Amino acid sequence: LSYSRREKIKPVPVEIWAFLEEIRPLLISALSDSASLRIDAGEDRLVCLTDTSVLTSAIINLLRNARHAITGSGLVTIRAEVVSPGDLSPSHDGYELEDERYLALYVRDNGPGVPENLRETIFNPAFTTKGVGDGTGLGLTIALSTLRQIGGDLRLARETEGGAEFQILLRLSDTDI
Ligand code: ADP
Ligand code: MG
Repeated sequence: LSYSRREKIKPVPVEIWAFLEEIRPLLISALSDSASLRIDAGEDRLVCLTDTSVLTSAIINLLRNARHAITGSGLVTIRAEVVSPGDLSPSHDGYELEDERYLALYVRDNGPGVPENLRETIFNPAFTTKGVGDGTGLGLTIALSTLRQIGGDLRLARETEGGAEFQILLRLSDTDI
């Protein structure tokens, strides 16, 4: 990674399954020993337009949250598909996406889930239910704003049978790689 003051976040075409394989060790260490990780890779290649550090830190933030939420034998599942954003649960703040189709990356855990009355609040800066020193309440805020900066989004799924499912939406690339 290189940083310069002028450098902007730059989305590049990324094949999602190859990328997830590449960062798998990082994802496993983010979960520590609290949960196992299952990546349900489909058979089709899916090429999105993303910034790899934005995407990596968004996923890692979700996994750290999952690790915290899980009690007992944990499982985190990641799967992906191409969706029309209108088919997903709407964004908590009504934010709308411009393209017709996106790559949706679903990160689901088998913890207690997010209580209905906190669905919107969890995305607020500094909101945390964790104790002092445990959470800054910035993880979801930063993931959301950086994903939006690259034309994507972050949503919380409405219907899940137990557990929380976050949905990372990424622009699809029109150039194959
Ligand atoms: P922090 O992790 O520092 O608390 P976040 O912005 O990452 O800040 O998360 C905010 C809050 O959202 C958490 O404190 C927790 O209450 C809730 N939350 C996030 N992820 C999950 C999850 N997977 N299951 C249940 N609650 C969650
Ligand atoms: Mg967090």
